Amino acid sequence: MAKNIQAIRGMNDCLPEQTALWQRIETTLKQVLASYGYGEIRTPIVEQTPLFKRAIGEVTDVVEKEMYSFEDRNGESLTLRPEGTAGCVRAGIEHGLFHNQQQRVWYIGPMFRYERPQKGRYRQFHQLGAEVFGLAGPDIDAELILLTARWWRALGIAEHVRLELNSIGSLAARANYREALVAFLEQHKQQLDEDCLRRMYSNPLRVLDSKNPQVQALLNQAPSLGDYLDEESQQHFDGLCQLLTLAGIPFRINHRLVRGLDYYNRTVFEWVTESLGAQGTVCAGGRYDGLVEQLGGRATTAVGFAMGLERLVLLVQAVNPAFSVAARLDVYLISSGAGAQNAAMLLAEQVRDALPNVKLMLDYGGGSLKKQITRADKSGARIALILGENEVATQQVVVKDLAHGEQCSVPQQQVAEHLSAILG
Ligand code: ATP
Ligand code: MG
Repeated sequence: MAKNIQAIRGMNDCLPEQTALWQRIETTLKQVLASYGYGEIRTPIVEQTPLFKRAIGEVTDVVEKEMYSFEDRNGESLTLRPEGTAGCVRAGIEHGLFHNQQQRVWYIGPMFRYERPQKGRYRQFHQLGAEVFGLAGPDIDAELILLTARWWRALGIAEHVRLELNSIGSLAARANYREALVAFLEQHKQQLDEDCLRRMYSNPLRVLDSKNPQVQALLNQAPSLGDYLDEESQQHFDGLCQLLTLAGIPFRINHRLVRGLDYYNRTVFEWVTESLGAQGTVCAGGRYDGLVEQLGGRATTAVGFAMGLERLVLLVQAVNPAFSVAARLDVYLISSGAGAQNAAMLLAEQVRDALPNVKLMLDYGGGSLKKQITRADKSGARIALILGENEVATQQVVVKDLAHGEQCSVPQQQVAEHLSAILG
């Protein structure tokens, strides 16, 4: 027998049972974004490979080993987007969105990275991100953080995430720090693992990000990025901290917080949780004032974040299961006898015309009324509508309350009215 074809490792199906929760979460997230005046941007899932190489940086996990790149039929190298910012910036430049304008946008959709799949880490995953262009902050950095904090409250997970904050300063300040850090690492080469040794010269800040406990212990003695900040970045950072304090958002300054992608400067932040095990970063972002120019646009300040939706869904399920009420059916319509099936189809359409928000499912399985009632019970609907030969002849329909068992007969003409009274 031929072997069944299965989904690609690390790429998940989302079945109807789960999509109800996803949709509810997405609706909440979008409603909050709208309340801050942000507009949605949709860009293609596939872009030219050089876009990501230039934006993210050659010496990053993503570009070195995680991209899904392929040649299309013209021999052009294309890549399934591993993140959303590069595409937003590309689109913004292409459509002139940055010419003396401010933009506050968000996006949602699948991203692709060739990683080792595990809980909270997949090869196709979904991000919702926001980007703001043309505002230098720190007030706008604070706004993005306030927006995310509002999300956590709306989803009932605020007690389970905390904010980590850092400033990685200007390019020049980072160059100074980089020198000091490399000098320190050179003196302690024997304590570095292979990854860190490789990164030491190509992208030494990434060593701070190492998950190796021995390296982390060594870094306690390393020079601190906080001591190398330029005056302006320091002021920007102080401003942000003041605004967050004013708004009552607790945070922890973590001078080792750097981001995995190269384009960041000044503010970096992460919302982390202890409730998901190893993959604890739910939402991560920061400032990337140089990226628009680096990709060929005119210099435009920018700040944004991206949130992993799989991790968010896992977190909501873990700490606020009450949020995930299934989208319940309201009415299940069954019929039996000559002419009843056609009448049922027309009656169903009549109800949907009158009550577009009611969820009504029509039984197509046939069989005895008893069998159909069993299916109605299983469907989870509140009400069964029953059409037998008698009802068809008299233009009536039986309305049965599936929770309490009571039933009555009403004229078909009045069924919508009757249902709307019961369903409220
Ligand atoms: P990590 O250190 O966990 O690899 P990252 O620095 O690569 O994260 P970003 O590129 O900043 O992550 O992406 C932002 C968010 O997207 C992450 O905080 C996480 O919630 C989510 N995310 C990133 N990669 C994956 C993945 N492979 N599977 C699921 N979610 C992911
Ligand atoms: Mg990663």
